Amino acid sequence: MLLKSNINDLKNIIKSENVLFSKEERYCYSQDSTHVNQKITIPDVVVFVETVEDVQKILKYANMHKIPVIARGAGTNMVGACVCQDGGIVLNFSKMNKILEFSPEDMVMKVQPGVVLNDIKLLAEREGLFYPPDPSNFKVSTIGGSIAQSSGGAKSFKYGTTKDYILSLKVVLADGTLMRLGAGTIKDAVGYHLNQLIIGSEGTLAIVVEAELKLIPLPESSGIITAYFDTIQDATSAVNQIIKQRIFPATIDFMDNNSIKTVEEFYPSGLNTTKACLLMIEIDGYESSLTIQKEKIFEILNNYGNDYDYTADKIQMEKVWTARRSSFASTAKLGRDVISDDIIVPRSKLPEALSGIQSICNKYSLKACIVGHIGDGNIHPQIALNMDNDEEFKNYQGAKSEIYLLTVSLGGTISAEHGVGIEKIPYLNKVLDTNSIDYMKKIKMLFDPNNILNPGKIFKL
Ligand SMILES: Cc1cc2nc3c(=O)[nH]c(=O)nc-3n(C[C@H](O)[C@H](O)[C@H](O)COP(=O)(O)OP(=O)(O)OC[C@H]3O[C@@H](n4cnc5c(N)ncnc54)[C@H](O)[C@@H]3O)c2cc1C
Repeated sequence: MLLKSNINDLKNIIKSENVLFSKEERYCYSQDSTHVNQKITIPDVVVFVETVEDVQKILKYANMHKIPVIARGAGTNMVGACVCQDGGIVLNFSKMNKILEFSPEDMVMKVQPGVVLNDIKLLAEREGLFYPPDPSNFKVSTIGGSIAQSSGGAKSFKYGTTKDYILSLKVVLADGTLMRLGAGTIKDAVGYHLNQLIIGSEGTLAIVVEAELKLIPLPESSGIITAYFDTIQDATSAVNQIIKQRIFPATIDFMDNNSIKTVEEFYPSGLNTTKACLLMIEIDGYESSLTIQKEKIFEILNNYGNDYDYTADKIQMEKVWTARRSSFASTAKLGRDVISDDIIVPRSKLPEALSGIQSICNKYSLKACIVGHIGDGNIHPQIALNMDNDEEFKNYQGAKSEIYLLTVSLGGTISAEHGVGIEKIPYLNKVLDTNSIDYMKKIKMLFDPNNILNPGKIFKL
């Protein structure tokens, strides 16, 4: 618990209007998008930082007084990565939301951590450039949060994830020291790639205050095929055949029948509710190449029936993606709480993983809507329940353990893009060996000897 004197010190260190300390204000920053079922507390104080120097001063002070510091972007992560477990200072980046430089010629953009991903995408597009990482909530989530969670999204299959688009970072260490990691050039072979260590570190190693992003040329055009299947097996084998034809779709996303029905119930989008699953296959490239890709994919889809469609109309495409993105919100209407999990398996194991997850959820009588970026093998089982109902919660815990066991047995891992936060700590040793967990802890202690940066996330020291 921070003392009144600590609050007064903070008000002297940065502009006093940027220090929020009323209970009501602090409460607003006590949750993220996770239905956490563990002890969490409200922050002792919320601080809006405006400059790199603000961050340096706050960290120096917090380190001296051993006060936890939890960085916060839009608070949309799904693993409890920015909740407080023992009070502390929440560093809010919504005022550090400027695009600092944009060089279309070098295809590089320099941004502050609070910039919303959509702003990066829109500015890049104006110059015919493209920032591909697109977590489904890119219209609200920030680049700082994306870097810290190593976000992916629908386009990872072809274009990779956040880690593939960071050329350099400026970070502030726990003691307030400012450090630049990476050269900002397209290639860089000088020393250890410390910027990659920060990506996915969930605010536990350093605070990102600036990022230089790599952009790529925006594909000339794109179109989307929606294809329905009678079985999951058919859908996954169609995916394999498409790739075997040397077609490289920008996205191959999946919705199971429960997801389709739930979206149609709450956000009617014209989806066919009678089929086992739906694939959304986005193709891109030169206009002329779309026809060839589309025809080759249609040839494959003909083997599985004729329930498919294509559009290259931007408004229609956005409608398709809105239906897919509505899946989380519509699942949330099935129960008081909703959990969107995140696992990944090798693509060859998708049929076993998808049908296994459905069976596990049925066995535990859980309402589950399964979606995924299945080009990558990434599955999101979205489960609706009431966490305060002991039986439902016990069932959920049982299902979660079995889903992770199944994932590991198929050669996969327990997070592809959402991270560990506090939610997945108990399962870490299922996918990481003791030596690597020990090394991660040593790295944490090197960067943050007083354990003030987002303590208790990823692992407990
Ligand atoms: C509906 C919905 C759909 C989603 N879909 C996807 C998806 O398709 N793919 C995907 O990958 N994710 C997805 N997510 C998860 C989420 O979008 C990402 O984790 C997101 O990028 C987090 O950004 P944020 O700004 O909300 O970060 P926050 O949730 O605020 O913070 C996330 C982490 O980043 C740390 N952090 C924030 N700023 C900084 C900083 N400046 N320096 C250091 N650490 C910092 C925080 O401490 C915390 O550990 C989805 C979430 C929702 C709610």
